[in-house]
Amino acid sequence: MKVTEYFANANGQTLVSFEVLPPLKGGSMKTIFDTLDPLIEFKPPFIDVTYHREEFIYKKRDSGYYEKIAIRKRPGTVGICASIMHRYGVDAVPHLICGGFTKEETENALIDLNFLNINNVLALRGDARPFEGKFIAEPGGHPYALDLVRQIVEMNQGKYLDPNIENGEKTDFCIGVAGYPEKHFESANLKLDLQYTKAKVDAGADYIVTQMFFDNARYFEYVDLCRKAGIEVPIVPGLKPLTRKYQLSSIPRLFFVNMPEELAVEVSKAATDEAVKEIGIEWCIAQSKELKAAGAPCLHYYTMGDSATIRRIAEAVF
Ligand code: FAD
Repeated sequence: MKVTEYFANANGQTLVSFEVLPPLKGGSMKTIFDTLDPLIEFKPPFIDVTYHREEFIYKKRDSGYYEKIAIRKRPGTVGICASIMHRYGVDAVPHLICGGFTKEETENALIDLNFLNINNVLALRGDARPFEGKFIAEPGGHPYALDLVRQIVEMNQGKYLDPNIENGEKTDFCIGVAGYPEKHFESANLKLDLQYTKAKVDAGADYIVTQMFFDNARYFEYVDLCRKAGIEVPIVPGLKPLTRKYQLSSIPRLFFVNMPEELAVEVSKAATDEAVKEIGIEWCIAQSKELKAAGAPCLHYYTMGDSATIRRIAEAVF
């Protein structure tokens, strides 16, 4: 079923969903199952699987020169999706990015998903590679998530890149896109960022999943601004509990979000890792309860492999 159908059938109830990342290359599906087994009793209708593009590493050769090698550290998104659907009977939502893909490769990836009966996808641009200052699209690839949304919509209409394909199968993808309550870091301001988000929705995106945030006021204001801008699709809040003291600086640095003062002060004062985790869990529970009471369509938890923490939160909220 499509993600948006789950929202429509929920009769105003807030659903729960989880996001997992593929294990590092050499790992096994057991890592994913170990994360999801304790969470499946909360009945997520869908589970997201992130996509990780190749990175460049430099290996020193005997000659003394360094060789630039491209490696994908976390491959397997599509296989993991199929495996999740098979094991749990829930829908899986693969993340699909522009980075590293030509349009042709995107088309082939979408064909794979369609043949596997995976008809939900989160369409993203992806980030710049480490050490590349800005995002660079593949030659013949998409520079923005908007262009990826357009390609998926075209396939939903039976239009493939090869104009000689007549009566191509119409895929039926439900398309999610990313939204940023505290604006995307490359955007000059939130208003401009919202215009681009609206363009993704106008092009055919069916729902939005937000970047993590720690202050619900940011989400509520964002939803308000989206509605005023004419963005009518469901907006799913993305949540991640803070579990380590260093995340007070690493999360703002990596995800460009603010830490509310009250949370930052409490965490700074905590004496042990356990105490930090408790504060983070309680904070996320309070956030979740408020979002649920306000009628958020779904709470989407970034598990980052830590199912015990996410389980504590889900137990308190659902
Ligand atoms: P876009 O919507 O293309 O926006 C990128 C930037 O360009 C924004 O600043 C936007 O305002 C601007 N912009 C958009 N359109 C235009 C235009 N036409 N002209 C000028 N500027 C424009 N990354 C991964 O690599 N793998 C994942 O699995 C993954 N999952 C994610 C899940 C969620 C819920 C979120 C919120 C993010 C995820 N990301 C993932 C990170 C994401 O790829 C980055 O945040 C990336 O920098 C932006 O992606 P986007 O789809 O929002 O890009």
